[in-house]
Amino acid sequence: MKLAVIPGDGIGPEVVSATLKVIEAAARRFSIPLDIKVVEAGDVAARKYGKPMPDEAWKIVDSADAVLKGPVGETAYDVTSAIRMKYVLYANIRPAKNLPGVPAVKPIDCVFVRENVEDVYVGAEYRVGDVAIALKVITREGTARVARVARRYAEMRRRKVTIVTKSNVLRVVDAFFRDVARGELDGLQVEEMYVDAAAMELVRNPSRFDVVLTTNQYGDILTDLAAQVAGSLGLAPSANIGDKKAMFEPIHGAAFDIAGKGIANPIATILSAAMMFEWMGRQDAANAVRGAVEEALRRGVATPDIGGRATTEEVGRQIAAIVESWPTTS
Ligand code: ATP
Repeated sequence: MKLAVIPGDGIGPEVVSATLKVIEAAARRFSIPLDIKVVEAGDVAARKYGKPMPDEAWKIVDSADAVLKGPVGETAYDVTSAIRMKYVLYANIRPAKNLPGVPAVKPIDCVFVRENVEDVYVGAEYRVGDVAIALKVITREGTARVARVARRYAEMRRRKVTIVTKSNVLRVVDAFFRDVARGELDGLQVEEMYVDAAAMELVRNPSRFDVVLTTNQYGDILTDLAAQVAGSLGLAPSANIGDKKAMFEPIHGAAFDIAGKGIANPIATILSAAMMFEWMGRQDAANAVRGAVEEALRRGVATPDIGGRATTEEVGRQIAAIVESWPTTS
């Protein structure tokens, strides 16, 4: 399995370096052959080579099966969105779940399945004098394929899907998304919720959600909210899945305010690596990484954002050590 690793900007190199220790420990423990190549991309690459995604970076990503990416700063659109679009990574999976010992707003255990390559993020924006326009693009195929991913998750969970739109106002595009999505969800419990109500419910009663299926922009916003309800942005992983390739990344940004201080929480990126192992079909390694994260938190190994005193590096090292001695049968 070829893995391209983009450390990214801000706290990216710190959280990715901690995660690589965990990935390498899991690869050793479960005998997973990984060919890892580190890619220079993002603000740093833009300054150094004049391009946030230099040709060499595209070459490595092109030939990789999967990408593990840290957050990218100012050039996020040229790196993150460009990779999502180029390889049609159409489903963005963002679980929100409480973790042991982490103070949370409320109990929550849901998975967001966010459409990842359409909506207003297609980049069709225009300025005509004093008027600015952005096109919201929703297609039948784009909606149906992401709805099928939501279906797969719901079938493994509580068989409930909440479709989040604003179809009372966007009566053509959002209603189209809702109707096409519904067509793929036969036999499951399906409800529709407007995005404003969903934001409120995520704070008021988040345990009512199981799988949340939504469009690109609403998903972008609601998943930050859900991550904070679960405890911290620093704990929230994500996967960008296409038919051939996938990219795994924390949902948080480059957090320049805390970069270089060794206090960034690497768990969001480490849990993204667990999602990567799952995607590779290595449930054993995925379970070990998740289990090790939980065990470390139970032992109080945590960064300051969740009330601990450990450094980024220490958290990575301890989780890697737990993975290394994880029973192979679990
Ligand atoms: P973007 O717009 O790219 O999402 P942002 O700077 O607006 O980025 P984030 O970087 O996602 O927002 O994070 C907001 C704040 O949350 C940060 O300034 C930081 O204080 C905190 N934060 C984010 N990620 C982490 C992390 N891994 N560990 C600790 N704190 C974090």
